[in-house]
Amino acid sequence: MPKQTTQLASDTLRDSRWLAVTGRDATRDGDFYYAVKTTGVYCRPSCGARTPRPENVQFFTTPDDAEQAGFRACKRCRPRQAPLTEQYAELIADLCRHIEQADTPPSLAQLAELAQLSTFHLHRIFKAITGITPKAYATAHRSSKVRQQLSSGSNVTEAMYAAGYNSNGRFYAESDQMLGMKPAAFRSGGTKMQIHFAVGECSLGAILVAASERGICAILMGDDAQMLIEDLQNRFAKADFVGGDTAFEQWVAQVVGFVDMPKLGLNLPLDISGSVFQQRVWQALREIPVGSTASYSEIARQIGQPKSARAVAQACAANPLAVAIPCHRVVRNDGGLSGYRWGIERKRALLECEAKT
Ligand SMILES: [Zn+2]
Repeated sequence: MPKQTTQLASDTLRDSRWLAVTGRDATRDGDFYYAVKTTGVYCRPSCGARTPRPENVQFFTTPDDAEQAGFRACKRCRPRQAPLTEQYAELIADLCRHIEQADTPPSLAQLAELAQLSTFHLHRIFKAITGITPKAYATAHRSSKVRQQLSSGSNVTEAMYAAGYNSNGRFYAESDQMLGMKPAAFRSGGTKMQIHFAVGECSLGAILVAASERGICAILMGDDAQMLIEDLQNRFAKADFVGGDTAFEQWVAQVVGFVDMPKLGLNLPLDISGSVFQQRVWQALREIPVGSTASYSEIARQIGQPKSARAVAQACAANPLAVAIPCHRVVRNDGGLSGYRWGIERKRALLECEAKT
């Protein structure tokens, strides 16, 4: 029977759900269940039990299906309970509000005490639900506060205190990373921000790649190169645009290669700027594996705001980094394709290409 075992193992290894099992991916809890033939037990993807051998694994959509097939619920992960993301969504949403309203960012220990969880547990759940750590969440929120203050005319010192910084040193140390430039430059309209860009061709049509000093800040696709350039100028109204040089052409070639073959991955730094909410949505999108899709509601649940499916759709539409932030992997609840910022045909082509092998 060794041939059959090999066949069973390879069926499992080829199933995209296997990756969620080996990664104990809490964000897939509720999507499916897996049973282990040797133990007779079925689990949710995030179960902490030892990873079974692939040839012994069988996947099910509901606990009922698993039980009808003769498996019993695991006592450790209790697959009949609501998934982690649902159990804790409200709690994490409350903690997010708490972080946003605090004058100085609360420590992990303080948040854990509020939540009545261990720091380890809280950190893990927070990250599973929002896609980022509590610390990164606090930093992202502060940075958007600083941006708002500076854009609405406050001077640098006012903006610093309004965002809860008590010391110059920390503010200046962090501001470069937050704003992508010195605060004074940001306030004066970001005129010092330089964006290199070039337009190329990929299998899906014209593609524009742009980069700030920090990394790729836009990947735009369309039929018409001129429209892509106008789109870029609207998105970064205050920047200076510079045509690409030879070094930059190599980046463009890498991005084109990546768009044509997303499985290659993109090893270039990304410069992602957006609101805290957008950043959380985009981070969640980046965790959808190649070859899988998620619905707008699933993403909303995952970031702890289950009622925000519409806002999630808007954040997808505002995504400046086609394919690198894979908004094409988000579909309607019924699996329909719905809209795509860069055209529904491109979305279909990308998903078909990713589904192969
Ligand atoms: Zn289990």
